[in-house]
Amino acid sequence: MAICMTFRAAGSKVHLLINKSSIPWYIKMAAPTSVRFLHEKAYVNGKWADAASGKTFDVVNPSNGKKIGVVPDMDAADTQNAIQFAQTAFESWKETTAKERSVILRKWSELCIENKDELAKILTLENGKPLAEATGEVMYGTSFMEWFAEEARRVYGDIIPSPAKTKKILVLKQPIGVAGMITPWNFPNAMITRKACAAIAAGCTVVLKPAEDTPYSALALCELAEKAGLPPGVLNIVTCSRANAGVVGKMLCENPMVKKISFTGSTVVGKILLQQSASTVKKVSLELGGNAPFIVFDSADLDQAVNGTMNSKFRCSGQTCVCANRILVQEGIYPKYIQKLAEVMTRDLKVGDGFESGTTQGPLINHNAVEKVDGHVQDAIQKGAKLVLGGQKKGGNFYAPTLLQDVTLDMKCAKEEIFGPIAAVHKFKTEEEVIKIANTTTAGLAGYFFSQNISQIWRMAEKLEYGLIGVNEGLFSMTEAPFGGWKESGLGSEGSKYGLNEYLEIKYVCLGGM
Ligand code: NAP
Repeated sequence: MAICMTFRAAGSKVHLLINKSSIPWYIKMAAPTSVRFLHEKAYVNGKWADAASGKTFDVVNPSNGKKIGVVPDMDAADTQNAIQFAQTAFESWKETTAKERSVILRKWSELCIENKDELAKILTLENGKPLAEATGEVMYGTSFMEWFAEEARRVYGDIIPSPAKTKKILVLKQPIGVAGMITPWNFPNAMITRKACAAIAAGCTVVLKPAEDTPYSALALCELAEKAGLPPGVLNIVTCSRANAGVVGKMLCENPMVKKISFTGSTVVGKILLQQSASTVKKVSLELGGNAPFIVFDSADLDQAVNGTMNSKFRCSGQTCVCANRILVQEGIYPKYIQKLAEVMTRDLKVGDGFESGTTQGPLINHNAVEKVDGHVQDAIQKGAKLVLGGQKKGGNFYAPTLLQDVTLDMKCAKEEIFGPIAAVHKFKTEEEVIKIANTTTAGLAGYFFSQNISQIWRMAEKLEYGLIGVNEGLFSMTEAPFGGWKESGLGSEGSKYGLNEYLEIKYVCLGGM
């Protein structure tokens, strides 16, 4: 239980966050580094916890390279300990009624909304995204609490007409058990709630490893969960450095007490976790990388297509799994589209610290990300793409929003996920050609197209091999809609009425002798 007191000292606001069970006291100076709910401990069995080794690692603000604080560098043994607590908590949590779980989730959502500004500050501090975007993510993250508070009460079983007069067929849905979760840095709040709230609503307990770069959003959520009445052991956060990610992940996947793995991150790591989970035949959900085609047909409304590109491409500085990756534009509209996109990018994109007003493009997450993105741009230029805008490092982890035209399929930016603010535009001639290009990838997460031709809209929506399709729309993530990829972009769906199924087992009960 943490108590926050605020007073003024030497003209500046000081928050004192006093935590009974963890850090003796700690003091943070006023914004942007003064943030409530910023915990430098892991959270296990309702207590703020250290690694058994006592080791910690630094968390750094990607905008200025300054240390925000430390968190425990937990290992396999610490993870096993958290799993044991989650298993114990499961024994009682699974016996709660759906209504009881619903009330706690709803209270949690209310507390998050009340404290959305503080949660957004933590998010901007550790991830770098602009504060307005961070606030949007907190609200999106909170929407899963509210949604699953409602869905918890709709886990209906079935009574199936039986072919035998003496036998009745009943179907029960029951919580699967302890769920192990691993999340990435690009949505440090919403990727946690999208998974954990579904599990908690179903009656499961959770052991979650957040990304090394962004542990504080996950920990802040725990304080509010506790205030909302979530019992100890239901939600456990195990923090660890990149060096320990492998052993923590392996423990989650191979420990027989864990009955479910849910992962969001790269396809490479997703495949490792899938293999590791095979040893105990766990149910696995994977939300992995994409390589989204973003198709603009000649019939498209130009303004709508450019607006859609801006929304899809530049959120989180291009670091989302659903970002437009291969922008494929039909030859008739191609010159106008490039011209308009260049104008709007120049007018609307402002690179800067996420706390500065007007910033739309924060830093990339780290130096490696800058090098990777710049590598994509240099490779494209070398292979014949034309640089229209940007193409430079801007110091630190910042990269200029970039527009490349005449991109071809042999370039790295077409074959790999760019994960940066690079709009890479290809030209195509026919619908058949673009369907082939769009589907010739192992990824199958998001696809977009812009057209005013209704027959073409229907054909394209059916033919694209993607789990998420935006038609004349660049933003489509909503808690009510299922989120999940096809092919190597993943397994299962999150959010929506399907999200709870990932944490439930179906049991067939045959009542005989009737
Ligand atoms: P990542 O390297 O796969 O990391 C994701 C998480 O996995 C982090 O917590 C990371 O820990 C952990 N991890 C790394 N290696 C591991 C291992 N061997 N065993 C267990 N855990 C391990 O991905 P990222 O670069 O952070 O995130 C970007 C990727 O996520 C992109 O491909 C993006 O498309 C994808 N993504 C997908 C969705 C979706 O819903 N489909 C949403 C968001 C992002 P550390 O932080 O310590 O490395």
